[in-house]
Amino acid sequence: CSFFLFSVQEGVEETYIMIKPDGVQRGLVGEIISRFEKKGFLLKGLKLFQCPKELAEEHYKDLKDKSFYPKLIDYITSGPVVCMAWEGVGVVASSRKLIGATNPLQAEPGTIRGDLAVQTGRNVVHGSDSPENGHREIDLWFKEGELCQWVPAQAPWLRE
Ligand code: GDP
Ligand code: MG
Repeated sequence: CSFFLFSVQEGVEETYIMIKPDGVQRGLVGEIISRFEKKGFLLKGLKLFQCPKELAEEHYKDLKDKSFYPKLIDYITSGPVVCMAWEGVGVVASSRKLIGATNPLQAEPGTIRGDLAVQTGRNVVHGSDSPENGHREIDLWFKEGELCQWVPAQAPWLRE
């Protein structure tokens, strides 16, 4: 299966997933990456990164009028995050399901937040909410040359 056939199939999207500082500090990096890997999505970019304030503000600009916004910016910049770009058919909506509801107490067991977190302000992971935001956020968090185009060895066993 060539790269062209693999990555240009119908419905293939990309999403920006980020393990927030609490997920890194709590040693959940492997566990969280593992859930996306096991599901069968394709990892295209990965880095540990200390987020500058300006980038956090740009990423969460739609929330800047919310009362929790200053706390949110402090939280996201409080330590390193793990930035990831994942590709797959329907990966945006599916990742949101894997992650679970924003409030971890309402997130279903089996989801990342449902299994691993207890508070909205410490909900361990971010996932883009639309394909458009997936592109926007990957462009925002990754520089040119930081993403890999590749075909996994298991390609024919993931997509027919
Ligand atoms: P998400 O798409 O599920 O991450 O949720 P939103 O886009 O609505 O909010 C972005 C992030 O802001 C959430 O993941 C939380 O980290 C944070 N957040 C949202 N609502 C609240 C809140 O009421 N209190 C606090 N402390 N943080 C919040
Ligand atoms: Mg959101």
